[in-house]
Order: sequence, then structure tokens, then C-alpha cells
Amino acid sequence: MKNIVIFGAPGSGKGTQSDKIIAEFGVEHISTGDVLRAEIKANTELGKTAAMYINDGNLVPDSLIIDILANVLDSKGKDIKGVIFDGFPRTIAQAEALDVMLEERGQKVDVVIGLEVDDAELINRIVARGKTSGRADDNEETAKKRLSNYYKQTLPLKDFYIKQQKYSAIVGVGSIDDIYANISKAIKEA
Ligand code: AMP
Repeated sequence: MKNIVIFGAPGSGKGTQSDKIIAEFGVEHISTGDVLRAEIKANTELGKTAAMYINDGNLVPDSLIIDILANVLDSKGKDIKGVIFDGFPRTIAQAEALDVMLEERGQKVDVVIGLEVDDAELINRIVARGKTSGRADDNEETAKKRLSNYYKQTLPLKDFYIKQQKYSAIVGVGSIDDIYANISKAIKEA
């Protein structure tokens, strides 16, 4: 069982690299952003609440997202090779909740892949993605807000995982395959 967290700012390539990790390691994908977008599309109460935060470039409250994560994790069943957590955790409270959740299931986070990309490149990528993604939050103004929230709320997790000796820094700029080669190596070594 290998539980992987893919960590990085919005636009750092978490989704793209997750697809490659899944193809090689056969782990289950849990993307909290995808789960929330599906709820918004289905116009559920949860989706309506989440949209208020997402469209403003803010994080959805911890209590809400932690409940969602627990439900999605249980829905994957016990007979799996592991999970890639994409876009979760995004706060220290979420990381602590994830540790507890996995411990209750006799598991742990095995490795954290930290995709490191400079700000100018992140904004360029998000704006470019917005032309085809149809995402309400993929525009320059919201991207800047998301990035500023990332530094305030999410980046402290880097130290959290360095202390646990789980953080593997990966240069997130260059060709997708070159970046992935380093990710694959880090997962195998974990
Ligand atoms: P993503 O697709 O991962 O970029 O997520 C899109 C948006 O969904 C984020 O900007 C947040 O508003 C919300 N979201 C996704 N995952 C989380 C999370 N773990 N905690 C809080 N909000 C989240």
C-alpha cells in the first residue's frame, strides 16, 4: 500500500502528474477539487456552498472538506494499492486529520511529492488553462488570490512534512516527462 500526497501551488501540475503516477503505480486518485466540481455540476447543496468559496479563490472550510475526504476514502474500499491525494491536504488541520484517518485504517502517508514552480509561471499556466478548462477560478484575478491563499494556508505544510521526513522536492518546470521521471524515482525510493 502506497499513499502519496501530491503537493504544490495551483497550476504546479498536480493533476497532470497524478495521471502519470496512477498509470505507473495503479493507485486510486482522490482529487478534492474534482469532487467539489462534480458537486457543483450536480447542483447539490454541498456544491452550492463550495462554489461560493471556490469562485472567490478561497479554500472550502476544513470541516466540510475533511468529511468529504473521509467519505471518498471509504468509498474506495480496502482492496486498493494505495491512494494519490491531489489537492488535499491544503491546511495543517487537514494534514493532521489525514494522519488520523489513515492511522485508524492502519496506514500512513508514505511520501509527499512537492512540485516547486515560480509564481509568474503559475499564473501563466492557470490563465492558459482557463481558455479551455471552463473553470470559473482559472482567471488572472482569482489565480492571484488562490496563490496568496496558498502561501498563507498551504505552504506551512511543507515544513510539516519535512519534519516527518516525507517531503520530496521536485522541480516542476521543464518537460512533463522529465518532471515525472524525478517523481517516479522519489516514489520508488519512499
Ligand atoms: P483544485 O482543483 O485542487 O485547484 O481545487 C479547486 C478549488 O477547490 C480550490 O481553489 C479550493 O477552493 C477548493 N478545494 C479543493 N481542495 C480543497 C481542500 N483540500 N481544502 C479546501 N478547499 C479545497
